[in-house]
Amino acid sequence: MNSADAWPTENRLNKTDPWEIIVTCEHAANRIPKRYRQLFASAGNMLETHRGYDIGAAELARRLSKVLAAPLFMGGYSRLLVDLNRHSRHRNVFSRFTAGLEANEKQRLLKTYHAPYRQSVEDKVQHEIENGGRVLHLSVHSFTPVLKGVVRSADIGFLYDPKRTSEKYVSRHLIKTFQNNLNNLRYRCNYPYQGVSDSLTASLRKKFSDDCYAGIEFEINQHFPMGQPDEWKSFKTCFIQTVRLALTGP
Ligand SMILES: [Zn+2]
Repeated sequence: MNSADAWPTENRLNKTDPWEIIVTCEHAANRIPKRYRQLFASAGNMLETHRGYDIGAAELARRLSKVLAAPLFMGGYSRLLVDLNRHSRHRNVFSRFTAGLEANEKQRLLKTYHAPYRQSVEDKVQHEIENGGRVLHLSVHSFTPVLKGVVRSADIGFLYDPKRTSEKYVSRHLIKTFQNNLNNLRYRCNYPYQGVSDSLTASLRKKFSDDCYAGIEFEINQHFPMGQPDEWKSFKTCFIQTVRLALTGP
């Protein structure tokens, strides 16, 4: 099957479809291992903010994984330790708290926390493809409503590579389903970041072709998890139901 007909034109990514779904959440946690806590002595409450982790993303990823019966991969430590959504040689893989470490300590961080996570996701994708399947990878993130004084103008962003037919198709299909179901929210493609920017999905695209791998990042505005608990609860339910409807049908 070539990429042009990889995705059905109807809403029918159902149980008999060979696409396997996996859910990941690279910025799920804000913990720091004991060995490195001293490095964060001057961090104040930064670990509790959007700089430390993706607020709300872990809850969404867990529920999404459950409802889609899809395997879940979640980061266990703060992105400020080592960023799981950056490749190992990216200039921002280490934060200002860890960038000054000796080279051997940096290698240790990569080897202990970064490589095992990324390798486990890659191995899962590889395994499914080797078994004749194709993988839809949903990577769950969230973004701060205001960055450097600029108010972000979306509630949910869908990041993908526009050159990949399957990703373009499934993103449009997701957005259409969201627009039909939750028409009071604002949706944008490749916002607040470009889908082709460095990320776990971007790295996996280099290893797996359009025909067998599609990586979509959800970017959720943190005004939901940081707002009224009732509204967050209702958003979570609506979000999960809508993704399920889009991917598995009514
Ligand atoms: Zn993130």
